[in-house]
Amino acid sequence: MNAKNTKHVFITGGVVSSLGKGITAASIALLLKRRGYRVRIQKLDPYVNVDPGTMSPYEHGEVFVTDDGAETDLDLGHYERFADLACSKASNYTTGRIYQTVIERERRGDYLGKTVQVVPHITDEIKRAIRTLDGDDVDIAITEIGGTAGDIESLPFLEAIRQYRQEIGPRNGLFVHLTLVPYLRAAGELKTKPSQQSVGILREIGIIPDILVCRCEEPLEKEHFRKLAMFCNVRPELVIEELDVANTIYEVPLELAKQELDTYILEMLDLHVRDLKLDDWEDLIQRVVAKDKPKVEIAVVGKYIQLKDAYKSIYEALDHGAIANRVKLVIRQLDSEDIETGKVDVAEALAGVQGVLVPGGFGNRGIEGKIAAIRHAREHGIPFLGICLGMQCAVIEFARHVCGLAGANSAEFDAPGKATPHPVIHLMEEQKKVINLGGTMRLGAWPCELTAGSQAAAAYGAGSVRERHRHRYEFNNAYRDQFVAAGMTVAGTSPDGMLVEMIELGDHPWFVGCQFHPEFKSRPLAAHPLFREFVAAAARTLVKEA
Ligand code: GLN
Repeated sequence: MNAKNTKHVFITGGVVSSLGKGITAASIALLLKRRGYRVRIQKLDPYVNVDPGTMSPYEHGEVFVTDDGAETDLDLGHYERFADLACSKASNYTTGRIYQTVIERERRGDYLGKTVQVVPHITDEIKRAIRTLDGDDVDIAITEIGGTAGDIESLPFLEAIRQYRQEIGPRNGLFVHLTLVPYLRAAGELKTKPSQQSVGILREIGIIPDILVCRCEEPLEKEHFRKLAMFCNVRPELVIEELDVANTIYEVPLELAKQELDTYILEMLDLHVRDLKLDDWEDLIQRVVAKDKPKVEIAVVGKYIQLKDAYKSIYEALDHGAIANRVKLVIRQLDSEDIETGKVDVAEALAGVQGVLVPGGFGNRGIEGKIAAIRHAREHGIPFLGICLGMQCAVIEFARHVCGLAGANSAEFDAPGKATPHPVIHLMEEQKKVINLGGTMRLGAWPCELTAGSQAAAAYGAGSVRERHRHRYEFNNAYRDQFVAAGMTVAGTSPDGMLVEMIELGDHPWFVGCQFHPEFKSRPLAAHPLFREFVAAAARTLVKEA
């Protein structure tokens, strides 16, 4: 297949946001991949931020980081987890990024004095972003459009995909529209009108959806399928029901496959319908739903606890760890500020958990609560995993309470004119030289050499790994010898030995901190080694308790 023959699937959403378009897109990607096709996927986000890197987790959920250091929308996490597709800078474009490119071009004079307009210049730039998916090694490119049909800011994106499909022709591209069919409890009825109106909005701008995927809480009846097909102008078999799943989001691909969504997509794109193999995926669901598994409770001590999307990949990776260990995971979400302010007592808050995880973060809010939780885990032999800021807090805790360095802290938390006497975490001069141009953040995949004999090396079963980073501050090497003498192991470093990437404690069942974010590389069928071994260590304490 040549580059010109890359087929395109465009996924739009209607009626309301938060329908799970990312999960639907990721499920379609998985099914097409399992049919033997080479798939690439991207998300176009209509908001004006250049990327979600500067957005608060409260606004946007977690920032998902790719190997090439892009700070992206969390839907890319679904793409990577479901379909195991490596995402990159080409996998996420926003209105801001598109405009930035066009405006830079305008300043350089590339438009030769022409008036620069939304149509055609912005839409052309969007089409260029879509075209980056094309390639000799790509059979099917999937583009998910963020936002909801009818939003003002979505319009240029919808116009761009309309043009794109017009250019490549109907057998080379198709539109999938995800809508909501709400159930009105008082009337005891499912309502198709919002879907009809949403399709109407698309039709007005020249997009006629080929497939309608209907999110619903209650199963659709024959009559609903008929109505939706008739009034939304799609073939009845192309009205697909996507019911809320009972146990896990990983059931979605199986539900869509039962209705042969992938078969229809392939047929419409003139692609051969090859066999679909999902045995391992079915086995995965069986593991999730299996009853009578030992229950392992893990405390996640963070500051964005109220928002379920802020630590999305962490919760998913913990789930993968539980699936790999055949245990039932219970997550106890603890707000580190509540521990810090004394609203809850740390020993009470952590009573009965088998593991403590402290995730990444920025800023000093809740830091002392995290440090208290880590101290409790260290002193009571509770398995601990510290990620990025979580590792940095473990270093601070160890400095203060084991090395006797009173007031030790991260330079990130220095108040003006009041620097910590022991900046055990700091900004390195050496680090400033290697940090990627344009930002002060260490972003993307970096190599890490593991220390032979460490828990980390045992977990990975490897001598060196590549993991994704997103942080500014680093372990301060001036304190390294002192830490090691007091019993901390440097379990992983950059290949030149200069950057401490992993730490652990010897006289503890399992206590590991990593400067990177392992959660981004965990998969349901292949739990990340650190999460797998963390949950395994937590499960082992159950045996001891019994
Ligand atoms: N705030 C810390 C830093 O910048 C940790 C960042 C993180 O946890 N991702 O180094």
